[in-house]
Amino acid sequence: MSKPKVAFYWCASCGGCEEAVLDLAEGIFDVVAAVDIVFWPVALDFKRTDVEALADGELAVSFINGAVRSSEQYEMVELLRKKSQAVIAFGSCAQLGGIPGLANQFDREAMFNTVYQDIPTVDNPEKVFPQPKTDTPQGIVTLPTMWDTVKTLDQVIEVDYFLPGCPPPVELIKDAVGAILSGELPPKGSILAPDIALCEECDRRDSKPEDLAITEFKRPFQIDIDPEKCLLAQGLLCLGPVTRKGCGAACVKGNMPCTGCMGPTDHVTDYGMKALSAMASLVDSNDDKEIATILDKVVDPVGTFYRYSLPASLLHRFHEANVDGGKKR
Ligand code: SF4
Ligand code: SF4
Repeated sequence: MSKPKVAFYWCASCGGCEEAVLDLAEGIFDVVAAVDIVFWPVALDFKRTDVEALADGELAVSFINGAVRSSEQYEMVELLRKKSQAVIAFGSCAQLGGIPGLANQFDREAMFNTVYQDIPTVDNPEKVFPQPKTDTPQGIVTLPTMWDTVKTLDQVIEVDYFLPGCPPPVELIKDAVGAILSGELPPKGSILAPDIALCEECDRRDSKPEDLAITEFKRPFQIDIDPEKCLLAQGLLCLGPVTRKGCGAACVKGNMPCTGCMGPTDHVTDYGMKALSAMASLVDSNDDKEIATILDKVVDPVGTFYRYSLPASLLHRFHEANVDGGKKR
């Protein structure tokens, strides 16, 4: 009997999700024994034409990581959708937009100006910017076009399941692969991780006071962090209370606050707003001026509360002129 065919693909991502697959360690041999990997650009030399040659629905599942922000990524995810029975948004960038999604604070022009012109290490006096088409003596060279707006995977194609995390924890990947192979999958649209907040699986949860009251938000480098005590109780902005569990509280175990990569639990529409409201409610003051002073200590509120989820948020992007309503890219 032929084995189920699977594909892995990456869009706007850092490569960490690909590493997470390798983190399966010897478990990867079980995966390889159970499936045929027919497309995995980061590791295997298959081409787009190999995917095009597949029949529609011939892939049992495509694992797609990264946000979508270019014409090339859009074409590839549309193609993989057509060829796949199931698509899994793999990791925070595919699920929520992730770190690349923070670019939705700006537009393409502002980003290109920064990257190709303004940063001090760039030497570009002729202002050479990437062009979709360039005429060269050897022929026309083409590049994918970059969109104005970073999108989550389910904003551009239909997604069957979501595997959260930056990157998804190995145990969750194993469970997801096992569920796919056994056909025992939860309802379509499910997030393949427990629907409970991270604090529940944190070793420090017993030291988290019932009625936390924060008078000053601190950053990890500013204090000697007690390795036993709840980080929030130490004034560190730990987003465990509003983040989905499933990672084993990996960062907290490393004595660092949770930054929320597993995203929200079910029924939360906007992770950033939920996080902001949860943290603001802990501020120990009724005086507007004092509250403002305490909250001012949160450096980069967008990067803190929407670190992984700006494209999936109700804000979606800043800059009214570029709100695209799903049309302008
Ligand atoms: S707030 Fe952070 S440190 Fe405290 S119990 Fe929750 S996850 Fe653990
Ligand atoms: S502790 Fe938070 S940021 Fe760290 S891996 Fe877990 S969910 Fe992600």
